[in-house]
Amino acid sequence: MIYDILIAGAGTAGLTAGIYAGRSGKSVLIFEGAFPGGAIITSPFIENYPAIKTISGPEFANEMVQQAENAGAKIVYEKIIGADIEGDIKKITTSSGEYLGKTLIIATGTVRRKLGVKNEVEFTGRGVSYCAYCDGAFFRNQTATVVGGGNTALEDAIYLANICKKVYIIHRRDSFKGEETLSKKVFETENIEFIPDTVVEEIIGDDVLKEIKVKNLKTGEFKTIETEGLFVAVGQKAQNEIFSPPVDTDDSGYVKATEDCSTNIPGVYAAGDCRVKTLRQLITASADGAAAVTSATQYINKINGGK
Ligand SMILES: Cc1cc2nc3c(=O)[nH]c(=O)nc-3n(C[C@H](O)[C@H](O)[C@H](O)COP(=O)(O)OP(=O)(O)OC[C@H]3O[C@@H](n4cnc5c(N)ncnc54)[C@H](O)[C@@H]3O)c2cc1C
Repeated sequence: MIYDILIAGAGTAGLTAGIYAGRSGKSVLIFEGAFPGGAIITSPFIENYPAIKTISGPEFANEMVQQAENAGAKIVYEKIIGADIEGDIKKITTSSGEYLGKTLIIATGTVRRKLGVKNEVEFTGRGVSYCAYCDGAFFRNQTATVVGGGNTALEDAIYLANICKKVYIIHRRDSFKGEETLSKKVFETENIEFIPDTVVEEIIGDDVLKEIKVKNLKTGEFKTIETEGLFVAVGQKAQNEIFSPPVDTDDSGYVKATEDCSTNIPGVYAAGDCRVKTLRQLITASADGAAAVTSATQYINKINGGK
């Protein structure tokens, strides 16, 4: 079978594309290599999506999955490992086989960056985590440390403060770059302590994480902080290697796409956090998903001779 639209990734962009494609009567297959819903499933709460005052990440994801499936989108839980997408028919390879489509929407999102410090890999899963919402409960009544200064780090600290005895938040600058409301909440929470101008130098422990060695960038002083958990929230990076080349990306690996989500390859579109953009949020991912399907549909109509 040749699908009208293949979608790489069942995050907010991919699932929105699935909803729009299904509702416009196109045959659509979404590939998901990890968990349906994408990055937002690791968020304890969402409070900035219009018309929804507050909702948890997993609930939001679940609603999108159901809506996409009800619209007719089919989700296959297989990671894409290869792509041959320059011809008229786009070929996608997973560990289970090959799938064909007239168009492809890349909606692969991002993955969290690592700190890149000594012993980080060794202690991952033994105290070091990249998802407070997934692993926070392991540190009940213990001490946890969050590294980062953006929205994710602030949300992680607020979430962990409800579970842990004490939460440190370490940032290399003296103020946060995340939203003012979140930053205010962090400063108002009694058991959160902000350690500014500081970076983690080393992770120390035996079987499990015991402490971290940190450096104050202003004074040059080193000290150790006892902590059972270390939650890394220092940004994201793109994961588009499978498609690039031939798809053009910037130096950081984000797909270059126009306002209507077109890439340099005819019939291939990019939606959501995986593409070059200034604001990576649910609302921009959703908007891209809708725009990409509109472009894909116009392309299909054109190759079908206007039918
Ligand atoms: C902790 C946290 C809290 C956040 N809170 C908010 C918030 O409150 N409000 C807000 O607006 N935004 C928030 N965001 C940002 C928001 O989650 C993202 O902007 C949004 O998820 C982007 O959607 P996306 O579909 O582009 O990418 P993603 O959600 O990252 O989805 C991409 C999907 O593609 C899949 N994938 C990748 N490669 C492959 C492959 N080779 N084969 C198959 N599948 C693949 C991934 O597994 C993933 O499921 C938050 C993010 C995080 C991490």
